[in-house]
Amino acid sequence: MMSIKSSNLGYPRIGENREWKKVMEKYWAGGMEEDEFQEKMKEIRLQHLRKQQDLGIDMIPVGDFSFYDHVLDTAVMFGLVPKRFNEYGGKASIKTYYDIARGTKEAVASEMTKWFNTNYHYIVPELDETKPSLIENRPLQLYQEAKRELNIEGKPVILGPVTFVKLSKGYKKDLFRTVVDQYVPLYAQLLRELEAEGVTWVQIDEPVLATSLSREEVDYFQEIYKILTESAHGIRVILQTYYESVDDYQDIVSLPVHGIGLDFVQDDGENLNSLIKYGFPEDKVLAAGIINGRNIWRANLEETFSLVHNIQQHVADDRLIIQPSSSLLHVPVTKKNEKKLEDNIKNALSFADEKLHEISIIKKGLDKGITEIQNQISDSKRAIEALRALQSTTDAKSKEAELSMERKEPFRVRRQLQQSFFQLPLLPTTTIGSFPQTPEVKKQRSLWRKGQIDQMQYEKFIKEETERWIKIQEKLGLDVFVHGEFERTDMVEYFGEKLEGFQITELGWVQSYGSRCVKPPIIYGDVSFRAPMTLKETLYAQSLTLKPVKGMLTGPITILNWSFARDDISKYEVANQIAFALREEVRILEENGIRMIQVDEPALREGVPLKEEKKEGYLHAAVNAFKLATASVENETQIHTHMCYSNFKEIMGAISEMDADVISIETSKSHGELIHALEESTYDKGIGLGVYDIHSPRIPLLNEIKENIERALNVLDVHQFWINPDCGLKTRGEDETISALQVMVEAAKQVREEV
Ligand code: GLN
Ligand code: ZN
Repeated sequence: MMSIKSSNLGYPRIGENREWKKVMEKYWAGGMEEDEFQEKMKEIRLQHLRKQQDLGIDMIPVGDFSFYDHVLDTAVMFGLVPKRFNEYGGKASIKTYYDIARGTKEAVASEMTKWFNTNYHYIVPELDETKPSLIENRPLQLYQEAKRELNIEGKPVILGPVTFVKLSKGYKKDLFRTVVDQYVPLYAQLLRELEAEGVTWVQIDEPVLATSLSREEVDYFQEIYKILTESAHGIRVILQTYYESVDDYQDIVSLPVHGIGLDFVQDDGENLNSLIKYGFPEDKVLAAGIINGRNIWRANLEETFSLVHNIQQHVADDRLIIQPSSSLLHVPVTKKNEKKLEDNIKNALSFADEKLHEISIIKKGLDKGITEIQNQISDSKRAIEALRALQSTTDAKSKEAELSMERKEPFRVRRQLQQSFFQLPLLPTTTIGSFPQTPEVKKQRSLWRKGQIDQMQYEKFIKEETERWIKIQEKLGLDVFVHGEFERTDMVEYFGEKLEGFQITELGWVQSYGSRCVKPPIIYGDVSFRAPMTLKETLYAQSLTLKPVKGMLTGPITILNWSFARDDISKYEVANQIAFALREEVRILEENGIRMIQVDEPALREGVPLKEEKKEGYLHAAVNAFKLATASVENETQIHTHMCYSNFKEIMGAISEMDADVISIETSKSHGELIHALEESTYDKGIGLGVYDIHSPRIPLLNEIKENIERALNVLDVHQFWINPDCGLKTRGEDETISALQVMVEAAKQVREEV
């Protein structure tokens, strides 16, 4: 009898110690030739394959590894290099590849945006300029490498044509189908070449199948995949979905492919319901996602085993594959090097390697009988029980009921009061919060963390840096100041370290975009306020200037979405607990005379559920949590918020309901699409549309910024508009930051004179 196979959908790129990031950044900085870069990257790539093999995975993905982003890889594979980076066409060099992602002095980078409902960002392909062709068969090359070097029969992973075109821009949406049709023959060719090489399995990712699709789009899958599978008979295609259930289960499982990958973890039980109700086609393989690929908690193996058992009632063993629910890109590599975590927390964790191990344990139980894995099952249950004992739940709901969720007066009234209180000029200028985290800032923090300088020395340094930047802001002539966030490594981790209910890992990094990694804190228990978190730094900065200094907090939804949350209570309860804690911080700031408070919610948009019917509930909860955190303040106190990285079009309504007095939104990287959205909306509060891209070292030109301002003023009231960069400036160098801000302030002056 053929047994159940184990598989993986994608492995984290960054390495146990972020060696991937280090190689890449050294290469960018000119510290490494291309040969060495290639060699080092290959080592990392092969090491990841070997690891998965050692962990007992039967079907190991190849092609999921990337030098930056898998969507960009796909675009470049099809020759989609925007003309501004390479006039000559053809294969993109490594340099060109990185130029597209990061921009150059002359050419702006391609847009970057959120990958589905995750904190991973992809580079948006620009389809407008080039006719696509299959420039190189990247999956084939990586398949060959795995076979040659390690004798691994890899499973190439390919981003499917429908999702690829959906995520791209530069075509009219009503031409969607025509555009996909251009790519179908290229995918067919790619598959034929894999077939010729003897590849058995291919995983084609179509995560759009887990969003709400139209009837027409579902039918379209039918036609495309028929063409693709018919053009390469010898190859078995698994059409992979993840992050949610599929709406049109019956249509999707009968698509003309050899296997369907379904997520049985993040699906609210709906995929399993459909499987029970409609069964599964006998001629197909089911690749079942049974271990959570998005969270960091250890699975209760008894429950996992029984989930698989349920699935087995409908699918024969020789047609069943077990795997994580999604790529493991979203979780850290391994917990084994964590030295400082509390035992009961560490024991309840499972990162990528541990998750693959869990898959192997389940497979062993399936092959040899459950008694063979009884010990591991008991261990997993004990670990979870011990965690539960730490989690105690306060009753957030009843607390919430007692508190006012509305500002004292509506915005219309507050606006007047705030204007007479702050006396700001027309088109006020400000920044988003952080100033450059120079090597010196990082060095001092690391010395302090290692105990090589004491608390006083570290605080003295932070103060000096703050003071220096207050002076710089005075000199620049900005209207509203910030303290610069020098004391923070990361906007979520900083609060995680200070609130009750969090644990911070040492090496729990995940890729956010390109080489940028984040280390999401772990929310294991009830969140509550311990002591003021931002007061000292804010008051110090305010004591140095007469200009208002904004208090700077991270909002409840962003803290939630950028942490790994506990899964024993709903995430909205967790958000409300965070909001209560922030409400206390807001109260203390206000009481101490800080009258502008910015509560950042950059992650609001990414948390929007993939399914239409779940969106409203999420947005309602998000608005609620924001108001819970901020609504208690006096009318004259101005609440700011900030959002970035996303398309905000469909959530402008919810943003308005948050009732912040001023919002700053990233705009320049989405090339002004937001402005269109604002044309149709009735947003009447203060708003700053980022006037230059902070992800690029390029200094914006005066006229570019002026044009951005003028374009915004075509659709917004001049009394409503604020002038600010797209986002915080912590990743930029000091000189370029000052130069860019000089241009921004000058542009504001000139426009003020013209209006
Ligand atoms: N206040 C934060 C900063 O300036 C906001 C960062 C963000 O939006 N991602 O760094
Ligand atoms: Zn931002």
